[in-house]
Amino acid sequence: MTGLEDFRATVRDWCAAHVPKDWRSNQTGVGDDEFVAFQKAWFAQLHTAGYAVPHWPAEWGGGMGVAQQIVLYQELAAADAPRLVLAFVGIHHAASTLLAAGTDEQRKRHLPAILDGEIWVQGFSEPEAGSDLAALRTTAKADGDNFIVNGQKLWASGAKHADWCLLLARTDPDAPKRHGISYFLMDMTTPGIDVRPIRNAVGDSHFCEIFLNDVAVPAANLVGPVNQGWQVAQATLGAERGMTMLELAERLSNAGFTWLLQACSPVEDPVVADRLAQFEIELTGLRGLCRDLVERTEAGQAGPADASIVKLYYSELLQRMTGYGAEIGGLAAHTVLTKPASSGWESGAWMLDFIGSWEWTIPGGASEIQRTIIGERGLGLPR
Ligand SMILES: Cc1cc2nc3c(=O)[nH]c(=O)nc-3n(C[C@H](O)[C@H](O)[C@H](O)COP(=O)(O)OP(=O)(O)OC[C@H]3O[C@@H](n4cnc5c(N)ncnc54)[C@H](O)[C@@H]3O)c2cc1C
Repeated sequence: MTGLEDFRATVRDWCAAHVPKDWRSNQTGVGDDEFVAFQKAWFAQLHTAGYAVPHWPAEWGGGMGVAQQIVLYQELAAADAPRLVLAFVGIHHAASTLLAAGTDEQRKRHLPAILDGEIWVQGFSEPEAGSDLAALRTTAKADGDNFIVNGQKLWASGAKHADWCLLLARTDPDAPKRHGISYFLMDMTTPGIDVRPIRNAVGDSHFCEIFLNDVAVPAANLVGPVNQGWQVAQATLGAERGMTMLELAERLSNAGFTWLLQACSPVEDPVVADRLAQFEIELTGLRGLCRDLVERTEAGQAGPADASIVKLYYSELLQRMTGYGAEIGGLAAHTVLTKPASSGWESGAWMLDFIGSWEWTIPGGASEIQRTIIGERGLGLPR
């Protein structure tokens, strides 16, 4: 066996021993406390095995090559392992930002804590500042060793469970939009923070409003220089649009396609067979794009629109596949109105999956914005 095949066998054995067999039924209809406890326990198991943050540098507990990461994600998908929903922002967005722009102290304070279960939320969007993020109006005014923050954040996924927040706030109201923004790490237990969940189209309330009223954030929690938060935020958005996709593509390829085959089985109609073949081709394309992106990012050679291409392709393929599941899955696809917490966006509960798939075409830059990035920065078209 090659090293990679040995690794695959090791992960497969580990999954057989550790993936909870009945998690789908046990996580259906659970409340917040059970969901959080389950997520933290599953994260701890993955961390103990060395599988929680394979994409981090070795010195911080990662260090897996791209080929190994793909094998890991393939095996987790094949074993139908629960997803790391709660830790997602911490292990991707927060880690990428701290590694790219944090101080040594910030890295030492937070990266080990994330591995111990610290939960993060991204506090970027505001009313009237989503696609046009640079229009954000939350202010942070210097006051001794602190900045005093006032304003409102919107659509903050997982805020009600978060320990820390990646916060963008305006520190110079007179500067041009992108030049007056700073990037902070905000402790969610600080007085003056009020988190209010918003109910979404499938009845969940995972995203929230965050109201900030005279919240004192230590100046030591600035990431990067004051007024240069826009540049720092590109690391966060880059993670959201790109590196997270490696696992998502493997999950969609395996779990999504497995559920779709089940819904269509037996495949006797040539029109259905044709459609499935088309999805298989598109999934192969997606996985190739993701691998390419991660390899080029690691080599420092990623183009300015590469992450946008992957995010756009993934989110629209997810939408097409879940839409087809709802179309082909018959009445059952429309009457299953609960799905397990800790599952992903292709759980096999097609109607919910289809509605949920629209989530992916909006955050981190909606599809229209990604197309503009691809046109202008990738293809060099005029603005
Ligand atoms: C499921 C989900 C989770 C989210 N999680 C988070 C989170 O954790 N943290 C966070 O900070 N934010 C989060 N967001 C917010 C997300 O980043 C914003 O919704 C997104 O940036 C779009 O902003 P908006 O909602 O204000 O829509 P708008 O910016 O008002 O856009 C509305 C529509 O107009 C289009 N549009 C806008 N401007 C242009 C343009 N210049 N050219 C062409 N079309 C345009 C958009 O593409 C979109 O279709 C989340 C959103 C969703 C749906």
